Amino acid sequence: MAGEKPTPIFRSEVDLARLPASDRIRYRLIGAQCRYHANDNIAAHIEEGELDELRAEVEEKMQAVLRALVIDTESDHNTGDTAKRVAKMFITEVFSGRYVPPPAVTEFPNVSRLNELMIVGPITVRSACSHHLCPILGKVWIGLLPNEHSNLIGLSKYVRICDWIMSRPQIQEEAVTMLANELQDRVKPDGLAIVMEADHFCMNWRGVKDTEAKMTNSVMRGAFLKDASLRREFLSLVHRKA
Ligand SMILES: [Zn+2]
Repeated sequence: MAGEKPTPIFRSEVDLARLPASDRIRYRLIGAQCRYHANDNIAAHIEEGELDELRAEVEEKMQAVLRALVIDTESDHNTGDTAKRVAKMFITEVFSGRYVPPPAVTEFPNVSRLNELMIVGPITVRSACSHHLCPILGKVWIGLLPNEHSNLIGLSKYVRICDWIMSRPQIQEEAVTMLANELQDRVKPDGLAIVMEADHFCMNWRGVKDTEAKMTNSVMRGAFLKDASLRREFLSLVHRKA
């Protein structure tokens, strides 16, 4: 029934196999009491082969959207494969951060005991807003203050982690917080700072059609919260590179 949460009822493997993949995955998520919001990663609940099934499901529904938009996909050769393309783009590209496990990243102990401010960026961000599924394109800067117990990760890995987090429909405020949590867990620095600046296409493609407006968000943790001069140093270096 509309608006009601599905009740977790027990289903046998045979029952489950008959359901569309999206229902099967949802059944597992509800059973495990896992949230599955637009910006959540659900890879742990997806079994082998099911991503292809999801892609086929999305393609079918997308074809129905085109039909509802009264687009003649049969004689318009430009839209003949659009449903297929969009499904592939959602599942394997722009929203892939929901469906694939976290990137494998080797963390190294901080043997040389680096404890200086480290800045990574600008990292290109490609995401989408969860309100309109419009693109969000921007940049992220990461500031870290490691201590002797921190784990260090290679530069390119920051890009991969960022991409994994950003390739989901979301809102910018939550995206920077998710990225901060992920880096805090892996690197365990004394201080962590993140600045994200982005264009939201739901502002310039639709709505107020303001093409200049950018949104900037930041997260400051640990030493960056307590130490105003460290924060200033980070922000001035970010502005110089912007
Ligand atoms: Zn939007």
